[in-house]
Amino acid sequence: MNAAILGIETSCDDTAVGIVADGVVLANRVASQIPLHARFGGVVPEVAARNHLLSILPAIEAALADAHLTPRDLGGIAVTHQPGLIGALLVGVQTARTLALCWNVPLVGVDHIQAHVWAAKLRWPGDAAVPLQVPFLALAVSGGHTSLYRVMGPGQMTLLGRTLDDAAGEAFDKFARLLGVPYPGGPNVDALAQSGDPTRFVLPRGMRGRSDLAMSFSGLKTAARLHMEALQAQGPLDETTVRDLCASFQQAVVAQLVHVTQRAAIQEGLQDVVLAGGVAANQGLRAGLAQMCAAQGLRFWPVPLAWCGDNGAMVAGLGAALLAAGQADDPHELDAVPTGLVKKRAG
Ligand code: AMP
Ligand code: MG
Repeated sequence: MNAAILGIETSCDDTAVGIVADGVVLANRVASQIPLHARFGGVVPEVAARNHLLSILPAIEAALADAHLTPRDLGGIAVTHQPGLIGALLVGVQTARTLALCWNVPLVGVDHIQAHVWAAKLRWPGDAAVPLQVPFLALAVSGGHTSLYRVMGPGQMTLLGRTLDDAAGEAFDKFARLLGVPYPGGPNVDALAQSGDPTRFVLPRGMRGRSDLAMSFSGLKTAARLHMEALQAQGPLDETTVRDLCASFQQAVVAQLVHVTQRAAIQEGLQDVVLAGGVAANQGLRAGLAQMCAAQGLRFWPVPLAWCGDNGAMVAGLGAALLAAGQADDPHELDAVPTGLVKKRAG
């Protein structure tokens, strides 16, 4: 077995540390800040950064204890260095740089979205290796991204198409906020949608007329808001109406994602479809893509639920593959690169 890699993730509001050896997750600690940000209805960057600082070292200690390892057993450290909130990223990057120097182990900076996608290769101890081979198609759906990629190897992804406006997770969160569903909106809308009627409200599917792989969710959000406002003008919404609105909205999001993903798989001639990112936890999306893949004769690889949201195991998993390919970074130089300034690693 190769030496274990420690993965650190602090790009947004989760302080997360994972330990992975040969794709096997030995530890996965996530200190969620959801209760801290809930009262603001969204992530406050400065609050996130300060709390990463409080949580990061205890999370690393806890992960090492979970894996029954000491720093001496580690073969390297991987850290999310892009994209994300700059203050939040800096905590993880500076911690990783310092520990790599103190412990004298190699360091590698990883891209957050690439790590989400590579999480499809992770497994629990005792499970067989995941037989997913490159090239494959990946749909990465999160709070900040909604993109389709052709994946050729660890960290080697070509963008095929992406949302022109809101990310799918952002659309879920904004819709939830309008409806008065508590933060974080996505999982709560998903839960309410389970018992709602997705046919009660007709909402636009978006981008049906286009031949490229672009996506859009802002028109859907506006249409949902107009429905909601018309209903609210008649009085407070009853429980059934809230559930039906959630189910109708979710179905419209899923329909668009499934439609564009199917087109991408056919256009690119790819047989394997990975679903990754925080929104990959959505039950409707997992079911919709599974059904489409079965109908089209494609293999479907949803990232296991434990590693859909932000986590350190995905960072360790991709970092291990990059280090094995000789892509270490200088611990004196690795930079945090905020959203909007993301650089591409050569190769
Ligand atoms: P990430 O950006 O990868 O941390 O993912 C967080 C985003 O995923 C947020 O926008 C959440 O609302 C969304 N999300 C998490 N779980 C679900 C779910 N079950 N259904 C829809 N969205 C979700
Ligand atoms: Mg994420």
